[in-house]
Amino acid sequence: MKPLEKQPEKTKVNYDKLLLGLVAGWQKQERRPKILIHSCCAPCSTYTLEFLTGYADVTVYFANSNIHPQAEYQRRLLVQQRFVEAFNEQTGQQVGFIAADYKPNEFVALVRAGQLQNEPEGGKRCSACFQMRLDLVAEAAVALGFDYFGSALTISPMKDAQLINEIGLDIQKIYDVAYLPSDFKKRGGYQRSIQMCKEYDIYRQCYCGCVFAANQQGVDLKAVKKEAAAYLAETAFDSE
Ligand code: SF4
Ligand code: SF4
Repeated sequence: MKPLEKQPEKTKVNYDKLLLGLVAGWQKQERRPKILIHSCCAPCSTYTLEFLTGYADVTVYFANSNIHPQAEYQRRLLVQQRFVEAFNEQTGQQVGFIAADYKPNEFVALVRAGQLQNEPEGGKRCSACFQMRLDLVAEAAVALGFDYFGSALTISPMKDAQLINEIGLDIQKIYDVAYLPSDFKKRGGYQRSIQMCKEYDIYRQCYCGCVFAANQQGVDLKAVKKEAAAYLAETAFDSE
C-alpha cells in the first residue's frame, strides 16, 4: 500500500506586503481611493484608520448582526461612532460612518442552518460570520461607489487574518469592487491600537459578540445587558 504523503502546509500570504504594494501604487498615481472598511467595535478601527487615512478616504461600515444582546450591539455602535468623531476632531480627517440594519434573526438563522451553534471560537461559525459581514460590506461598497471594501479585524491577534483575507478575496469575485488585503497587526499595528484605545478612552468588550461564544465563555449576559443599558442611558443624558 502506498504510504500517505504528508500534506504540504498551506503557504501563508503576507497580506500586509500586498497592502503596502497597493498604497505605493496609489501614491505613484497621486490618487486617494475610497475605502469602505468593516469594523465591529472601536478597538480594531483605531490604528486601521490612522494608517489608511494617510493614503485614502475611509468610511467605517458597522454591519454586525452577530452581536448579542441588542443593548450591547447599540453600545458598540455608539462607541464606534464616537471614536470616528473624536478621531476626525483630533486629526482633521473626515472619516465617514455608516451603520447597516441590525438583523440578529438572520445571523441566528445562518448559524442554525449550518448547525454551527457549538462550534468553537475560530471555527466554522466564525468563518460564516466573517463571510456574512464581508458580503454586506462588499454589497454596500458597490451600491455607494467605493473603490475597495475591507476589514479592520485583521488587526486582532485573536482573529485569523489569513482566513479573513481569503474570504474577502473570494467575495471580490462576486461583486464589482476590489477587496483591500490587510494584516493591520503587522509593523506594530496591534500595539498602536492598544495605545490608541488608552488615548481615546475606548471601551473594550469582554467577548467577541455572538450569544454562542458568550455562553461558551461563561459570560454573564445579564450583566452585559445592564452595563450596556447604563452606558446608553448615560450617553443619552450627556448629549441632552
Ligand atoms: S474583532 Fe473584537 S475587538 Fe475587533 S472590532 Fe471586532 S469585537 Fe471589537
Ligand atoms: S465568535 Fe465572533 S466571529 Fe465567531 S461567530 Fe461569534 S461573533 Fe462571529
